[in-house]
Amino acid sequence: MTKHRVVIIGAGFGGLAAARALRDADVAVTLVDANNFHTFQPLLYQVASAGLDPDDIGYAVRGIFRRQRNVSFRMGRVVGADLAGRTIRLDDDTALPYDSLILAAGAVTNTFGIDGVDEHAFPLKSIDEALALRVHVLAEFENVAIQPDLIDDGALNIVVCGGGPTGVEMSGAFVELFAKVLAKDFPQIDVGRARVVLVEAAGRLLTPFHPKSSARAMRTLTERGVEVRLDVGVDHIEATAVHLTDGTRIATHTTVWAAGVAASPLAGALGLAQTRGGRLVVQRDLSVAAHPEVFAIGDVAAALADDGVSLLPQVAQPAIQGGRHVAAQIVNRLAGRPTTTFSYHDKGSMATIGRHDAIAEFPRGARLHGPLGWLSWLGLHIVYLIGFRNRANVLVNWAWNYLTYDRGSRLLSERVHRDAK
Ligand SMILES: Cc1cc2nc3c(=O)[nH]c(=O)nc-3n(C[C@H](O)[C@H](O)[C@H](O)COP(=O)(O)OP(=O)(O)OC[C@H]3O[C@@H](n4cnc5c(N)ncnc54)[C@H](O)[C@@H]3O)c2cc1C
Repeated sequence: MTKHRVVIIGAGFGGLAAARALRDADVAVTLVDANNFHTFQPLLYQVASAGLDPDDIGYAVRGIFRRQRNVSFRMGRVVGADLAGRTIRLDDDTALPYDSLILAAGAVTNTFGIDGVDEHAFPLKSIDEALALRVHVLAEFENVAIQPDLIDDGALNIVVCGGGPTGVEMSGAFVELFAKVLAKDFPQIDVGRARVVLVEAAGRLLTPFHPKSSARAMRTLTERGVEVRLDVGVDHIEATAVHLTDGTRIATHTTVWAAGVAASPLAGALGLAQTRGGRLVVQRDLSVAAHPEVFAIGDVAAALADDGVSLLPQVAQPAIQGGRHVAAQIVNRLAGRPTTTFSYHDKGSMATIGRHDAIAEFPRGARLHGPLGWLSWLGLHIVYLIGFRNRANVLVNWAWNYLTYDRGSRLLSERVHRDAK
């Protein structure tokens, strides 16, 4: 008898949780990902701002499942599927058959069709993108050291578009990098002239959080030197400027796009119903209509909250809990039991604003901020990081950064510098 074949597309938070939850099931799991590693996205901004190295926040999928015998890994990009014939298609034209399919392909950057975002802005969804941003910023500093009048052209300025957690974290990290590290590395440059501007179309930062948390983030960032622009959108972006909808032009060579996500393009290639942001419509058990053997979880799915109306946020916990839930549904089916409704357990939200300050909000209204919020943020991220080596590396890096105000991760090779020009 061949085993029930479970194919999981995506080794992100959702895909990993599903594969792990199938540990004791009598199934053969194939986990497919375009990269051979899992990315801990919440710490991407620290790679971009030279606080951590890529290896600290990525973990090889084969290593994660070394001891779980019913999981095999297939590296490749999934480009389509024949849902009736129960096969997925990879970019090398191979077809992979399945009995149950879990779609966990996550999200991509949403440019909202704004001119110049694709060409000139730096997104922050992958390790490659975080590194590209980091070397670009370092290259701009090296360029200014050679040609100081580039400062007048905005070479040292960074404009971060989007005042959600990623935008807030990114701008807090960049002002710190400028003031505490690059100002010392480049004594010949007047780093005080470097601007970090955070642009948010809504009337406050961190809109999913309590207004008091938004006000705190605003105050702290402003005190630390971030220029926050609220109630204004991005009109278009050029290589050396961002144009806002109120007519303002901000000279910059570095625009970071942290303004939104859309479901992975794979969602649109499957012929399934989609809703806001391209997310796949799912039933209450997280399967898709007319295909009970296909489940969608995490950022790619439009899972409903317990109120039956609002969509769950595109953050890690819905993906992790969704992954565990669909694994249990596959086991239910194999045992001849009906599937059950997914119920999301909200554990709260967090965003760090920089050294000593983070916001943590818990269900039932409890809130932490300042050093206590920061310590809970640090602890939680260490707990959720995969692998002892990664945890140890991150802890050592954080301790080093904290005690010395230094950042170890700012190498710029000749080739990379040339390519960044
Ligand atoms: C910068 C940043 C900061 C964040 N900070 C936080 C935070 O502080 N807290 C929080 O809870 N959430 C945070 N999030 C959101 C969180 O990371 C996501 O909600 C979560 O990763 C979603 O999990 P997922 O499994 O759905 O998808 P992902 O973790 O994105 O995984 C999707 C996987 O699918 C793979 N893939 C995609 N398409 C294909 C394809 N066609 N073929 C093969 N493989 C494919 C990708 O390579 C990836 O490995 C952050 C996200 C970003 C980008």
